[in-house]
Amino acid sequence: MTLEERIAQVKENIARAAREAGRAPAEVTLVAATKVQSSDTIRQAIAGGITVCGENRVQEMTAHLDDDAYAGAALHFIGHLQTNKVRQVVGRVDLIESVGSEHLLQAIEAQAAKLELVQDILLEVNIGGEASKSGVAPEAVSALAEQAMACPHVRLRGLMAIPPIVEQPGGNRPFFAKMYQLYVDIRTKLDHNETAITCLSMGMSGDYEDAVREGATLVRVGTALFGPRPPMKTV
Ligand SMILES: *Cc1c(COP(=O)(O)O)cnc(C)c1O
Repeated sequence: MTLEERIAQVKENIARAAREAGRAPAEVTLVAATKVQSSDTIRQAIAGGITVCGENRVQEMTAHLDDDAYAGAALHFIGHLQTNKVRQVVGRVDLIESVGSEHLLQAIEAQAAKLELVQDILLEVNIGGEASKSGVAPEAVSALAEQAMACPHVRLRGLMAIPPIVEQPGGNRPFFAKMYQLYVDIRTKLDHNETAITCLSMGMSGDYEDAVREGATLVRVGTALFGPRPPMKTV
């Protein structure tokens, strides 16, 4: 299958899962997780129907931006962001999906204030309570969301999660369901017009259909579009 065909297939699977759950397929956006892909592959993906790219590494992202590789698509930062790299991300991406601490939130607010812009963000939730993963604990989401709402140069758009790796199919559905509940909670509590908080980012190659069934509005898919990646270098 070509990249274009795989994109079409993933989109079809998303649409089917949405309809099964009584949702409109248009409620869900496919984010192509483009880590380790070349600028040419990214351009090919955008030509093939990708409208949002998600990047993990600041360095790769900067190189692709210099190449103008994301032209025609929106850009999300989905990886772990260190505060010392905030300057390279704020104002350059449409959405930072991975804000998991007050420290990072305040660094983004400070940089956005300096640039006199408003940065859209999601809060990353450590939904599986894993020591190895970043993200805010489920019980602390509400407090961090309130802090984000109080930042004049940050616009809180919703939540994101990377659930634990589970072997059995459907094993992540309870985590996705919990995330949906947290999302509805902060929406009800903080977004009275329900206009800004509209994003729930969850689901990857192995489980995006379940994520859609449980209410995801963004799914981040890499392998199912681009094929297996070489093992990650530890930077
Ligand atoms: C790589 C990555 C994905 C996509 O993973 P696949 O299993 O290849 O679909 C999604 N989200 C984040 C944060 C990632 O780093």
